[in-house]
Amino acid sequence: MGKQEDFVLRALEERDVRFVRLWFTDVLGFLKSVAVAPAELEGAFEEGIGFDGSAIEGFARVYEADMLAKPDPSTFQLLPWRSEDPATARMFCDIVMPDGSPSYADPRFVLKRTLSKAAEQGFTFYTHPEIEFYLFKDTPQAGVEPVPVDRSGYFDHTAQSMGADFRRVAITMLESMGISVEFSHHEGGPGQQEIDLRYADALSTADNIMTFRTVIREVALSQGIWATFMPKPFTTHPGSGMHTHVSLFEGDQNAFYEAGAEYQLSQTGRRFIAGVLRHAPEISVVTNQWVNSYKRLMFGGEAPSYVCWGHNNRSAMVRVPMYKPLKHASTRVELRTVDAACNPYLAFAVILAAGMKGITESYELPREAEDDVWTLSERERQSLGIDPLPKNLDAAITIAERSELLAETLGETVFDFFLRNKRAEWDAYRGQVSAFERDQMLPVI
Ligand code: GLN
Ligand code: MG
Ligand code: MG
Ligand code: MG
Repeated sequence: MGKQEDFVLRALEERDVRFVRLWFTDVLGFLKSVAVAPAELEGAFEEGIGFDGSAIEGFARVYEADMLAKPDPSTFQLLPWRSEDPATARMFCDIVMPDGSPSYADPRFVLKRTLSKAAEQGFTFYTHPEIEFYLFKDTPQAGVEPVPVDRSGYFDHTAQSMGADFRRVAITMLESMGISVEFSHHEGGPGQQEIDLRYADALSTADNIMTFRTVIREVALSQGIWATFMPKPFTTHPGSGMHTHVSLFEGDQNAFYEAGAEYQLSQTGRRFIAGVLRHAPEISVVTNQWVNSYKRLMFGGEAPSYVCWGHNNRSAMVRVPMYKPLKHASTRVELRTVDAACNPYLAFAVILAAGMKGITESYELPREAEDDVWTLSERERQSLGIDPLPKNLDAAITIAERSELLAETLGETVFDFFLRNKRAEWDAYRGQVSAFERDQMLPVI
């Protein structure tokens, strides 16, 4: 047993922990949890805890259902929203097969495999997400339009604001679990909030996002309100995105930084962006995986609809921000498509794979978009070579089905399951007769 495992076993005793939750994530990005007694943990570290994988979305076919969850001791944390006495802790798990080999259906493994490919070329991948979400007054009820907790807007500071109070409690809780928060504010929509996490290696960030979504919803429940990461809950208000800032490091050097280069952006950085742009349409089904995701992307609210990059251009899909003085060597790339209802392990894996492809195949970066691409005409965009993102889930699936990059990065098991599942979602959706259609037609036809 290693040092970290020993540390966990000791902490369990010292903190009188009675329940340990083993967390993992299904292919669609939903958190799964199995609670074990502390006495089981030694065995769990050595061999894992067995469970029936066929009951988990995308994990196994019925005849190969036996799987094991193996806790990662470096992710041990007490859960602050459970009472201290007796305490509850959690660890993220890797999923393994009975012979000890990794499960190809485990999204955490998909990310790890992609990270190690980049590591073979000397790169570590760092990410930092800006996570947006809405707060509603009540638990959602079918057919009822939700009511936001306030009427404030971007950066608003209001006295006795529900949102500010919520953010303070949530951030304190996140920090107590070792998740550093850099920035938080009211977002553009009524009741809409944003909390930005500090950058970390992509695996930790993906784990942190899973924890974040849980914490935010727990805090909301404890305050009698409801939090949602749904990408576009209202037709007339902005959607919720998860802008993701990324960078590659070689050792402790930022590989995207080059002193004196335009925007301090190195050749490696330029090629990475070129890769992300060229493959954006085919990875879109992963970064924006729901029918609803495309309603955010295609209908304003400052969400990107076109494949292009820019410097100080918020209409661009990829932005090279310049917040900090140049000497900080903090060059990074902001990807604005992603939404917080994605599976963060899979999303980071496909973004990294697209960027790495740009590097290994020396893609040329297209010209920067200087205009507000939302206001250009279709013809102007065409003449600038600016393509649209897929307009809906159907289009995204169709492009993804032919993507070698996606098949290779996700692996056959996840690729097949994921696209089949998304196809079923689209088919269920397109058969629905909506209130929109009835309102349009019943009065006149
Ligand atoms: N909510 C917008 C989106 O969906 C982003 C707004 C912003 O952060 N400026 O991407
Ligand atoms: Mg922001
Ligand atoms: Mg924002
Ligand atoms: Mg941003």
